[in-house]
Amino acid sequence: MKKIAILGSTGSIGTQTLEVVRNNDDLCVTALSAGNNIQKLEEQIREFKPKYAVVFQEEKAKELEIAVADLEVKVLSGMDGLLTIATMKEADILVTAIVGMIGIRPTIAAIESGKDIALANKETLVTAGHIIMKLAKEHGVKILPVDSEHSAIFQCLNGENQREIDKLLLTASGGPFRGKKREQLETVTLVDALKHPNWVMGRKITIDSSTLVNKGLEVIEAKWLFDISFDQIEVVVQPQSVIHSMVQFVDGGIMAQLGTPDMRLPIQYALYYPERRPLPGERLDFMKLKSLTFESPDTDTFRGLFLAYEAGKAGGSMPTVFNAANERAVAKFLEEKIKYLDIIEIIDTCMKKHCIVENPSVDEILEAEQWTYEFIESRW
Ligand code: NDP
Repeated sequence: MKKIAILGSTGSIGTQTLEVVRNNDDLCVTALSAGNNIQKLEEQIREFKPKYAVVFQEEKAKELEIAVADLEVKVLSGMDGLLTIATMKEADILVTAIVGMIGIRPTIAAIESGKDIALANKETLVTAGHIIMKLAKEHGVKILPVDSEHSAIFQCLNGENQREIDKLLLTASGGPFRGKKREQLETVTLVDALKHPNWVMGRKITIDSSTLVNKGLEVIEAKWLFDISFDQIEVVVQPQSVIHSMVQFVDGGIMAQLGTPDMRLPIQYALYYPERRPLPGERLDFMKLKSLTFESPDTDTFRGLFLAYEAGKAGGSMPTVFNAANERAVAKFLEEKIKYLDIIEIIDTCMKKHCIVENPSVDEILEAEQWTYEFIESRW
C-alpha cells in the first residue's frame, strides 16, 4: 500500500490525484489539506479517511474540526499544519498540489524527512530550484514531475542518458489568445482569459496559460528538473495539446510523449514511477486527429515568456520576483482590479526595479517575494 499526503487536495490537481487514488486499491491517503474550502475538504475526509487534515486558515480549521468531530481525523492549521503533514512518517510520498510559493517550506521539510515528491507546485522549483534539487540529491529522494510537459520529458528520458540531451522541446497550446496581437488584448475580460482551449485547470494557472507566463514558469522548472541550460530549452506551440513535450538527443533523434490532455496520466505516472498502470479514459485516435500543427511562440505579443527567460538567465532572486509579481498581478486581475495587459507590465516593472540577490536562502527568497508585493502595492 502506497501512502500519500496531499498539499492542496481541494484544487484541480488535488481532486484529480484523489480520482487516481479512487481507481487504485493499493493507494491510500494519510493527509489532505486546503486553504479554506472546508466543505470540499470535509467530503474528501469522509471518503478517504485520512489521519490528518490541514486548513490553512485557523478559523476555518476550527469550523472543520467541529464538522468532522464524529471521525478520527486530526485537524491542524497554518504553516505548522502543512509542515506536519509534509514530514509525517505515515506518508511515503507528498503530492504538492498547492498553488504558490507557500509550497516552498513544506516541500523542503518533506525532502529533509526523506519523502519522495510528486511535484505539481511549479512555483517552488522556479523560486527555490537551486535549494530543492540539491537537497533532493543529498537526501536521495525523487522529485517526480506532475506538470504534463515535464512528465512527458521525464517519460522520454526513461532509460536515456541525461547527458545526451541536445535540447528540450517544451510544447505550448498557445492559450485562448493565440494569434492575437497586442491591440486585440487591450480589451480582454476575465471571462475571456479563463477559457482555456484544451485543459481544465485552476483559475490562476489558466490565466498564466493565456499570458504564456505559465510556459515561462515551466521553462525555469525544466531547467532545474533536468539540469539543463536555458539555451537548450525551446518552446514550440502545438495548439492541439497532443504532444506533451519532446526531447532531442545529440544524434538528432527526438522522443515525444503524446496522449489526450488528461492530467491523471502524469499524476498516476508520478505516483507509481517507474511502473505504468492501466488508466481508464479516452485514447488518442490519429485517424480522427488527422494533423498536428506547430508554430513559434509570439514573444513580442506574449512578453511573459520572454521575461521568464530573462528572469531565469539572470538567476538569483529574479525568478522569485518574476513569479511573485505574476502571482500578485494575476490575483488583482482575478479581482478585476487591473486590466489584462497590466499583468505583464507589473512583472516587467518589478524585474527592472529589483536588485538581484545571488544564490538566495529560503528567507531571502521570501524577502524578495515580500519586496515584490510591497512594491506592487505602492504602485498599483
Ligand atoms: P487550484 O487553485 O485549483 O488549487 C490550489 C489548491 O491549493 C487548493 O486545494 C487550495 O485550497 C490549496 N491552497 C491554496 N492556498 C493554500 C494554503 N495557504 N494552504 C493550504 N492549501 C492551500 O490550483 P491547481 O490545482 O490548478 O494548481 C496547483 C499547482 O499545480 C500550481 O502550482 C499549478 O501551477 C500546478 N499545476 C497545475 C496544473 C493543472 O492542470 N491544474 C498542471 C500543472 C501544474 P482551497 O481550495 O481551499 O483554496
